[in-house]
Amino acid sequence: MLSADFGRLAEQVAAVEAAGATVLHLDVMDGHFVPNISFGVPVIASLRKHTKMFFDAHLMIAEPGRYAESFVKAGCDLITFHIEVADSPADLIRHIRSFGASVGISLNPATPASTLEPILDQVDMVLVMSVWPGFGGQKFIRNVLPKVTEIRRRLSRHQRLEIDGGIDAETIGDAAVAGADTFVAGTAVFRASDPASAVLRLERLAVEASGRYAG
Ligand code: ZN
Repeated sequence: MLSADFGRLAEQVAAVEAAGATVLHLDVMDGHFVPNISFGVPVIASLRKHTKMFFDAHLMIAEPGRYAESFVKAGCDLITFHIEVADSPADLIRHIRSFGASVGISLNPATPASTLEPILDQVDMVLVMSVWPGFGGQKFIRNVLPKVTEIRRRLSRHQRLEIDGGIDAETIGDAAVAGADTFVAGTAVFRASDPASAVLRLERLAVEASGRYAG
């Protein structure tokens, strides 16, 4: 959603929902963990009234535990935090679940998959960053793909593996072949002349490529 026109947010979100998108990925930035500030609880709470989409909140913030309850109350269905900021990830996972939300864990391009080892069976989703977090519109970092496959092999069928950053028609197939099953597309959807057909095209490419997953 970071690539949407924030002055026409409800309208743009309605357009991608009408096209069949079922999940809205919300990039929350605090100016500490990442150098930018994006939007927070009030924007999400007001958007919640305009759509039935699943709200996938990606908290790129230094203190996710402090704000998790507010984000759930604003209507987020899933809360993803970064392993890099969590002193005790297992406690944070329990804390978020206590408010009734699903939990995801994210890792930056340079963070190895092994850091997730102790908590991998406790999350609903892993979010692999394929750019450095903090800005929209960056170029896809291809060398995270082996890490995607490594994580996919350790997850159960019920756990999702999402990839975020630089996903477009050129890169979505490779991400799907590596084992990702959920794709964050910002610029490729919200900056397209026809966001609805962009969603359909990306979905088709991902489904075709997922048949080539070799893990
Ligand atoms: Zn994100």
